[in-house]
Amino acid sequence: MFKERDNALTPEFHELATSTQALKHDDTAPCTCCSPVFSALVHEANWDDMTSPEAWREAGSRRDIYTPAAIAIFVNAKVITMDDDFSEASCVAIQGEKILAVGDREDMEKLEAPDAEIIDCEGKTLLPGFIEPHFHFLPCSTMEAFENVGPFRFETVHGALDRLQELAESAGPDEWIMGRQFDPSLQQGPDLLTRQLLDQVSTSNPVFVYNASMHFAYCNSRALEVAGITKDTPDNPNSPFYRDDNGEPNGVLAGGIAIGAVAKHNPAGKTLDLVANSLAVVKRANSLGITLFCDQATGMTRGVKEIDVYNTLAQSPDMTTRLRYSLSYGIQERWDNYDISCGDGNHVVRCTSWKIVSDGSNQGFSGLQREPYLYREDKGIPYVEADILKDMVVDRANRGWALAIHANGDQAIDNVLDAYENAFDQGLLTNTPCRIEHCSILHDEHIERIAKMGLSPSFLIGHVYYWGQAMRDKVFGHSKACLLDRTAACEEKGIRWTLHSDEPVTEMGPLRCVENAVTRKMWKEPETILAAEECISVEAALRSITRDAAWQCHSDHEVGTIEPGKFADFVVLETDPREVDPNDIGNIQVLETWMGGRRVYSSQSR
Ligand SMILES: [Zn+2]
Ligand SMILES: [Zn+2]
Repeated sequence: MFKERDNALTPEFHELATSTQALKHDDTAPCTCCSPVFSALVHEANWDDMTSPEAWREAGSRRDIYTPAAIAIFVNAKVITMDDDFSEASCVAIQGEKILAVGDREDMEKLEAPDAEIIDCEGKTLLPGFIEPHFHFLPCSTMEAFENVGPFRFETVHGALDRLQELAESAGPDEWIMGRQFDPSLQQGPDLLTRQLLDQVSTSNPVFVYNASMHFAYCNSRALEVAGITKDTPDNPNSPFYRDDNGEPNGVLAGGIAIGAVAKHNPAGKTLDLVANSLAVVKRANSLGITLFCDQATGMTRGVKEIDVYNTLAQSPDMTTRLRYSLSYGIQERWDNYDISCGDGNHVVRCTSWKIVSDGSNQGFSGLQREPYLYREDKGIPYVEADILKDMVVDRANRGWALAIHANGDQAIDNVLDAYENAFDQGLLTNTPCRIEHCSILHDEHIERIAKMGLSPSFLIGHVYYWGQAMRDKVFGHSKACLLDRTAACEEKGIRWTLHSDEPVTEMGPLRCVENAVTRKMWKEPETILAAEECISVEAALRSITRDAAWQCHSDHEVGTIEPGKFADFVVLETDPREVDPNDIGNIQVLETWMGGRRVYSSQSR
């Protein structure tokens, strides 16, 4: 019975993958996990058929990177343990990968370890390593080598173009100039990067830029020429080449098919070293204090082969951020024929849940709403219908999976709550965190139900900071926009919640997320606070990026607090986030990051 529904999902999923109907060009970035366009693109470009992982560079071996018996003691620190009592200490002793003791100097003397290495923290603040509970690893890895020309780096389109021109000037002949994160809704200047604009960057090298949403890309005349796209090239109706009045392609590529038709001619796509690129993402995460992150749609870009990449990474001594991952429901039949279970892996890399995407994104007008969007008649899209969602949850729970379900609109959240409730009524899922991803629009009755059932939201707090104005003025109107990311209301009801970046939607940055949740200020309108009553304390926000995120990622038994027996995953900060102006929390310097008793990042050695 269920199999029939499994099969029914596939055409719907692929239709979504190629559809641009719900999109207008000025739509802002939806969540990557609800943007199956990325998988259509990769498929069109044959990236899922690329070099086998065995051919990737020797990742090395994790053997011999620890000296298990050695003890090191961090002294003169302001240790915020994030334990039940939010207690503080001045010293932490570690042995090998694990925490041995936490306390003051006297406690350390009791260890009778005269040969211990002493690490003087000079009064700096030491916290558990930060946890990013929701991002998209291989999409980030794929794009890591592309130039970020997005709004967080360039306020204007021309600033972005100038940077691409610099790159073109130093590029070899025929080398593709690749950009990412372009977002006309947040960057001043023209809304479209036409080939005429990109020809100003170069006429001899192909130039190719992804929109932040991944629903669009832009290329110059040379790229169109290399790809053989002309006036006579037919359009796929769901994924066209935009054209000028004469029918000539204007360089704007809409949807995965059109994007892939050009992108696949970039020879660098074939030789991409995913392992090396992934390790570059790992390194960047360390520089932000992150010691564990969770991929929330494994299989979306390269199918089951992604597990080979993860297994290679697990063996690498350079894998200095722990990885947890949720399998994407989008390729469920392939997972069902693959030997993998919830919990497979180890403390470095582990499969921890099953990801379902129940609707689209609010800023893309595809989040499923109870009422129509502002100035519109449509209510968004159910990626999975309510009754199918119920069956899916029961089916996966019966197969031993924990769940993370994406829901942005208020109707989608109704559906997810109904599906969880139905599973609980059958005695399922009682001993595992049940996550709702983004959980963006919450009415009071939602919060009551979430509290009652012990469910747990993870908020994409950039919805408030980056897209707050768009949500208020274009998507929902003021009163519904105030229901976004209700951290304080959840806190008051004793609900455990977390914050995430959803990179590549917004960049990873746990301290920036904390600042956004504490201040709820809006970018480019910094005097306005979106729903001041939802501002949260710094302590609660810190808990959300450490212990509660560890719990959501099924890892609170090993990380998330500084307590004996857990892994020695720390971040050392220049200042205590509770003691700075909340508007400066995101700028606090990460001095060091430690993972499993190893220093994996130091601001000194950059
Ligand atoms: Zn999502
Ligand atoms: Zn996502």
